[in-house]
Amino acid sequence: MSAADPDCLFCKIVAGEIPGDTVRETDRVLAFRDVNPQAPTHVLVVPKAHHENAAASAAADPDGFAELFTVAAAVARDEGLPGHRAVFNTGAAVGQTVFHTHLHVIGGRDLAWPPG
Ligand code: AMP
Repeated sequence: MSAADPDCLFCKIVAGEIPGDTVRETDRVLAFRDVNPQAPTHVLVVPKAHHENAAASAAADPDGFAELFTVAAAVARDEGLPGHRAVFNTGAAVGQTVFHTHLHVIGGRDLAWPPG
């Protein structure tokens, strides 16, 4: 696993140094509720290993990256969602604010397409 970044918010949540509202956990992945939810269900699924974005995680640990999606599907099932959106923001230009890979799992209301 990559070393945790001492300045990374999500590394601190993974380490238990900052509380997170955890909904699922595996050896490689943590899923917790977004503190500023954009829908009735808004869960962040993160690899425990620190990488700054989805592409970096996929390159470094393909199996761990795939597990983000199986955990996202389990979260959606647990929440009883009839459908959900799974999104990675990559880069500040499209709104990434935390530079530790995280898959947004959003559902529980109608979602417009294309996204804003
Ligand atoms: P992004 O803008 O794609 O980088 O997403 C970062 C997400 O992290 C945002 O949706 C924030 O609301 C969320 N967030 C920030 N701080 C926390 C926290 N302490 N616990 C849970 N979610 C957080």
